[in-house]
Amino acid sequence: MLNIMLIGAPGSGKGTQANFIKEDFGLAHISTGDLFRANIENGTTLGTTAKAFMDKGDLVPDDLVIKMLYERLSEDDSKNGFMLDGYPRTVEQAKALDSMLTEMTFKLDIIINLKVNDETVIKRLLGRGRTDDNTETITNRLKVFKSQSEPVLEYYNGKIKILNIESEGTALSIYENIKNKIK
Ligand code: AMP
Repeated sequence: MLNIMLIGAPGSGKGTQANFIKEDFGLAHISTGDLFRANIENGTTLGTTAKAFMDKGDLVPDDLVIKMLYERLSEDDSKNGFMLDGYPRTVEQAKALDSMLTEMTFKLDIIINLKVNDETVIKRLLGRGRTDDNTETITNRLKVFKSQSEPVLEYYNGKIKILNIESEGTALSIYENIKNKIK
């Protein structure tokens, strides 16, 4: 069984690499961004609240994200191995995750850190066309990532094995590198 956490700036290729990894390793793909988008589509209260933050490129408040993740991790498929994609984005979320994992007797095996430069991020995101992918929002998401999410890596440094991956080049070549390092 394998439990993975994927960390990377917006546009670092997290979603693309997550799809390769989950196919190959048969993991439950837990993307908090996807969970929020599903809530928006279904018109839930959580979706309406989250959308206001997402549209600006800000983080959805920790308590809402933590509760949503707890419910998702409690679903049956998580027991066979999971991959977290886009969570945790704050140290507060990381600490909450630690408690959940202890309670559920799950253990995180590795963190995959996708490293990318800002120009690549902007090029990739503008080519993607999601509603929150305009220059203004992207710039804010990068700023938020640097101030709030980079400390998450420091938090795990020395606690959990971190694979640093240069996420430049083609999606497949990046994936080959990840795959070789996981094994
Ligand atoms: P993503 O699909 O991972 O790029 O996430 C899209 C947006 O959803 C982010 O810009 C945030 O507004 C929100 N979001 C997703 N995951 C989280 C999280 N763990 N904490 C706070 N906000 C999140």
